[in-house]
Amino acid sequence: PVLTGGPSTRQVKLDKECELRVEVRPEAPLQLRILSGTAEIFGTEIPPEIWLTFPPSLKFAVFTWYGATIELEGTTETDYTADETPMISYVNVHAVLEGRRNRAKASPDDSVSSQGPRVIVVGPTDSGKSTLSRMLLSWAAKQGWKPTYVDLDVGQGSITIPGCIAATPIEMPIDSVEGIPLEMPLVYYYGQVSPSLNADLYKVLVKELAQTLERQFAGNAESRAAGMVINTMGWIEGVGYEVYVILRFYPDYVALIFLQGCSCYQLIMLGAIEKLCSMLKDVLKSKPGVDVVKLQKSGGVVSRSGKVRNIARKSRIREYFYGPSNDLSPHSNVANFNDLSLYRIGGGPQAPRSALPIGAEPAADPTRLVPVNINTDLLHLVLVVSFAKEPDQIISSNVAGFIYTDIDMQRKKITYLAPSAGELPSKFLIVGTLAYIEN
Ligand code: ADP
Repeated sequence: PVLTGGPSTRQVKLDKECELRVEVRPEAPLQLRILSGTAEIFGTEIPPEIWLTFPPSLKFAVFTWYGATIELEGTTETDYTADETPMISYVNVHAVLEGRRNRAKASPDDSVSSQGPRVIVVGPTDSGKSTLSRMLLSWAAKQGWKPTYVDLDVGQGSITIPGCIAATPIEMPIDSVEGIPLEMPLVYYYGQVSPSLNADLYKVLVKELAQTLERQFAGNAESRAAGMVINTMGWIEGVGYEVYVILRFYPDYVALIFLQGCSCYQLIMLGAIEKLCSMLKDVLKSKPGVDVVKLQKSGGVVSRSGKVRNIARKSRIREYFYGPSNDLSPHSNVANFNDLSLYRIGGGPQAPRSALPIGAEPAADPTRLVPVNINTDLLHLVLVVSFAKEPDQIISSNVAGFIYTDIDMQRKKITYLAPSAGELPSKFLIVGTLAYIEN
């Protein structure tokens, strides 16, 4: 039951094309509803009059095209109204994509023109890439399309836990509180939070993901026409995977979106972005039909420190098991050591030279598979359940999900938490590098 009319309830009137930017307090959720008019959160319309509950620390904006009055219950960390937003330029991009989708739908039998738009969103860390991707997907879903969301950002992970690349069809505007539904996404496990830590493995996985999607599109005219929105890492490191990603997903049409900021810090980034932009233009020169669209970063995007990012990663893992609103209960299951085969993919902690036999070199192959014995070192690590049938398929297989383990060395048993009950779909597990301690 919601108490209304109390001292912490207040109304905010938003004029047309304005937004209320909100940071929910870290200790308590916030409730919000629309009293009149219409408004959306990152492209998804807010249902009229129903109270929505936003979890602690969430940062979001309520934007209205035509004006709205909203009511807040609870105190916020910060909230303010902004009348300058880049939303018109964002929705213009949507309109262009919409035209391409309609064109693709009109010619389902032509292998080239039946391909809908493929958008790659590029920009520095904290420029609003995930948010823009989300808007483009939700606006498309509202019109009845089922675009595919491809998330290559291993640092945060908006589809599944961090350290993965993933893709999933978006069939409905993305829920402002629950986020992207976790129904059978296509997930590949990379195991680090930056592509540069193991660029070779990152490229192998991007290639696998792109090929699998290509096969799926070949047999599905509807998702082919709806196209893809591809979210990326902050591209400033320049280790070559940027170009690789573009070429892997190179289709009949790509819009590269550069989010430009105007603060001092962003200006430095801007230089790097210009360099990247000209590098990409060079790559794409021989490939006609690629539009490069530059967009402004929204002033509402919140920059996150390394520490905040780390906390966000942990809470993404927690959400995987318990749901964004803490309303799911994971199942606890038990397995014998003998029933499981654990592996680590190269790039994990390498043995120091001093620990190796004289003359031996530390392992260098970043895509090498190393068997792992079960011991208490694995406590509090997230283990990845592979779909592989044989060990040599582990690297190229997508993953079924994640478990969180407790280890009983005496009884040689693993007790694990999984989102659903029943046996694991495979005995092959990958040892991750992401720790998660229950609290
Ligand atoms: P990136 O993907 O480039 O790292 P995000 O899209 O994740 O950046 O944005 C960073 C943070 O800023 C997120 O928490 C997001 O919810 C928040 N954010 C983005 N746009 C706005 C806005 N207009 N108002 C308030 N918060 C915003």
